[in-house]
Amino acid sequence: MSDVIHIAGSPVGGGHFALIAGPCAVESRAMMMTTALAVCDAGATVLRGGVYKPRSSPHAFQGLGVEGIAMLDEARRHTGLPFVTEVTDPRQLDHLVGVADALQVGARNMHNGALLTEIGRCGLPVILKRGLAATIDELLLAAEYVLCQDNPNVVLCERGIRTFETAYRFTLDVAAVAVLRERTALPVLVDPSHAAGRRDLVLPLSLAAVAAGADGLIVEVHPDPPTALCDGPQSLYAADVAAYARDVRRVARAMGSCVSGAATAVGQT
Ligand code: PEP
Ligand code: MN
Repeated sequence: MSDVIHIAGSPVGGGHFALIAGPCAVESRAMMMTTALAVCDAGATVLRGGVYKPRSSPHAFQGLGVEGIAMLDEARRHTGLPFVTEVTDPRQLDHLVGVADALQVGARNMHNGALLTEIGRCGLPVILKRGLAATIDELLLAAEYVLCQDNPNVVLCERGIRTFETAYRFTLDVAAVAVLRERTALPVLVDPSHAAGRRDLVLPLSLAAVAAGADGLIVEVHPDPPTALCDGPQSLYAADVAAYARDVRRVARAMGSCVSGAATAVGQT
């Protein structure tokens, strides 16, 4: 079993199933709040939302920055859920430390040693995503950059790797989940949204990930995905997230995980 890491009291690993959910990017106060309330009702354990977006094009929406952090803070106050948000540059830590409950290092920055070192020093829990073309060894070495700053709070995340296949966005490496479970005690999450790139594949990939031993999922949700400024095609509709969460929790329970969240409270399966 993996070690447990706490994101502001919310456990990840150690047999606790984590469901991290929210929009790819924080777009406005209203959409962040609507999404946060929907994922909270669905039993999510942590909120996600990007305010510093690493986009392929410099002309694409780059995130709301500091303004968006205040929206995440407000969503946290209304739901009681802690939040994780991506950091793409060490200078952003001035705005995030003391406010964010956990940081995310995206796939494009997994090899950024200077960023990882600064995150290690700040002590916050970090979700470290596997690079698009990174080996499992390279992911574990990237985690070392944080760990060797005496920050033990690292959660690994498999989010799909680039292969020759074009039927979906990336190839979810389910085997990596099993291999990581064997190689490290760090908790392992799976991001089915970025792997799939398609909403219809998010549930099957999630079920496979949990069955393979993932400690949890980080999934994108939007109130109206066709209008999303980022990653709409892979985002679950907020109206559908409760049914999704029920389905993945069934597999988590079958795997022997301790499952918390709304459905547990009312005794649903
Ligand atoms: C994200 O989580 O929105 C994101 C950009 O993910 P990745 O770094 O895995 O592409
Ligand atoms: Mn995204």
